[in-house]
Amino acid sequence: MHHRLLVRQLQRLMGNDFLPDERWNSFLELVSNYYHEVDRERGLLENALTVNNEELEVANTQLRAKVESEEALLRSFTNSIPEDLFFAKSMDGLYTLCNEVFAHVMGMTEKEIVGKSDAQLLGSDKVEFLRALEREVLDTGKRNVQDEWITHPDGSQHCIEMLRAPYFGVDGKPLGLIGIGRDITDKKQVDEKNYKLANFDSLTGLPNRHSFFEKLEHEIRQADRARLSLVLLLIDLDQFKEINDTLGHLVGDLLLVEAASRISACTRESDTVARLQGDEFTVILSRVKDLKDMELVAQKIIERLGEPFQLSDSVVYVSASIGISVYPQDATEVEELLKSADDAMYEAKRQGRNRFSHFTPGLQTAPQERLHMITDLRAAILENQFHLHYQPIMDMVTGHIRMAEALVRWDHPTRGIIMPRDFIPLAEETGLIVQIGDWVFHEAARWAGRWNEFLPGGFQVCVNISAMQFRAEGAASQMKWIEHLKTHSIPGKCIVVEITEGVLLNADEDALKMLANFRNADIQVAIDDFGTGYSSLAYLTKFDIEYLKIDKSFINSLSKDVRDTALCEAILVTAKKLGLQVVAMGVENHLQNEMLDKFGCDFVQGYLYSRPILAEQLDAILRHGAMGR
Ligand code: C2E
Ligand code: CA
Repeated sequence: MHHRLLVRQLQRLMGNDFLPDERWNSFLELVSNYYHEVDRERGLLENALTVNNEELEVANTQLRAKVESEEALLRSFTNSIPEDLFFAKSMDGLYTLCNEVFAHVMGMTEKEIVGKSDAQLLGSDKVEFLRALEREVLDTGKRNVQDEWITHPDGSQHCIEMLRAPYFGVDGKPLGLIGIGRDITDKKQVDEKNYKLANFDSLTGLPNRHSFFEKLEHEIRQADRARLSLVLLLIDLDQFKEINDTLGHLVGDLLLVEAASRISACTRESDTVARLQGDEFTVILSRVKDLKDMELVAQKIIERLGEPFQLSDSVVYVSASIGISVYPQDATEVEELLKSADDAMYEAKRQGRNRFSHFTPGLQTAPQERLHMITDLRAAILENQFHLHYQPIMDMVTGHIRMAEALVRWDHPTRGIIMPRDFIPLAEETGLIVQIGDWVFHEAARWAGRWNEFLPGGFQVCVNISAMQFRAEGAASQMKWIEHLKTHSIPGKCIVVEITEGVLLNADEDALKMLANFRNADIQVAIDDFGTGYSSLAYLTKFDIEYLKIDKSFINSLSKDVRDTALCEAILVTAKKLGLQVVAMGVENHLQNEMLDKFGCDFVQGYLYSRPILAEQLDAILRHGAMGR
């Protein structure tokens, strides 16, 4: 075998890249041949040296020179690939050859390395492992590739993809082992980055959908082994879309980051918090012993997310709806478990948000039903399948009906009357609320105009407006409402718009402009469901608010719950001082009525006086004055 040719072949094989499989095999074969040749020539040399003959002396000198030059050639070859480490070892683990890169990495010279073992050079715990590994390579004759982290003499850490393979003599017996290594630190870092990109959400740093599923699979296996349950919480931020649309993506992003950290802070180290998409987060509570714990965690998350978020210049408020499903009780498959949690989450939204809900098999049809509902809702708008009920609101002092709240109902062609709690949340999510709200306003204004005409003290109809209607599309509608009132000569004063605190708390410029437009048109504003949210009276004075409607949950616990009773009284006293008029909602009995009267409440609304009734019914009552306590 011609050595020069061999080295050239080697060089060609090495190329610039690390050797692919088939090229590596050829490389090994060539190296084996090379060593075999060198060995044979060394043998010849040694034999020749024993014969003391001048003629042979000359031949031997030539032969030695040749071997040396071949060795030099191999050395220059192994050094010519600057990126790669190269070494060869004998059967007993002594270095027989190495290139400059290898020597550099070891912080030694080639001379210091050759003839020594790893034990002599490294003197660390790694030695035993390496020796065992190399023994295996030699015993099995199989190559081994593995990543090894090494420390360069300058202290920097490098990852080396190290390939070890035996080389064989012509008789097929291994002669030793060669190692070739490539520095893949950069690639490793890129891989790590890609791994992160593939498995983690870049915004919040939480595991993403992909790794959530992997983790869930893993946790299910663990739960099986420990014979324990596993709980999945699916968390959705209720007002995220509005905030993102009104305050911009930057604030939306900040909100998600902060929400992620609040959710994480409510869980244990062993739990997994992941971001599935948009404003949807999940928590895997692993190996749960007591199922009561899950409700504590869910409640804690709801409370934490309900606290104000200070994001750049804005303070925003959100609430969360959480769906809970349990493995293996609710579902045994990953997808199914997530779907169950999703169904439960929609149930929580349907029940009014800012709460958690458990999966129950009855919910299983929900998503399909949702789709049907959306289709039906669109048809309902086109075919005008809505009607309004009006619930009278009594003036505490005069005992007369002074206002009425317009409450929408849906006359579904096959399902009968559907109540707002069963379709308003869906209408809000899909944006259809804008069109529905448009119809509600025009219909309510029509009656408000009429009642106002013949009632001497004036009359007001209250219209519920969702936060969603304060966004771009809704805003355009509201300008038309004001036009509509003008063209039909309906005084703005006979309309009250009911908004929730959330609208004010998250109000951007557009929302403020809209409120100003209402005020300029004489339309008054009421804060609905007061007491369930942030409930800051001082905050409300910044806006032009006429009425405060105290949530029925307070009225319900009047006299039953000391704290709620005190709170109710405090709200009334403070509201008075701030010049706000108070409407108590959900008044069902005389006791509540008396207490409210004593606290100085201005208006009451509830089943005690009347359930919501048709416009024609209210019209008759207003004309003939047939209603009282
Ligand atoms: P809300 O604004 O809190 O409306 C009051 C709800 O309390 C009404 O339910 C009413 O029927 C009920 N209610 C009145 N008095 C009593 C009482 O004494 N006891 C009890 N337990 N309940 C009483 P309804 O009609 O089912 O409306 C539910 C919600 O749907 C409303 O809550 C409102 O937020 C929303 N909604 C209704 N109509 C519209 C609408 O046209 N647009 C929008 N955006 N939302 C609407
Ligand atoms: Ca209301």
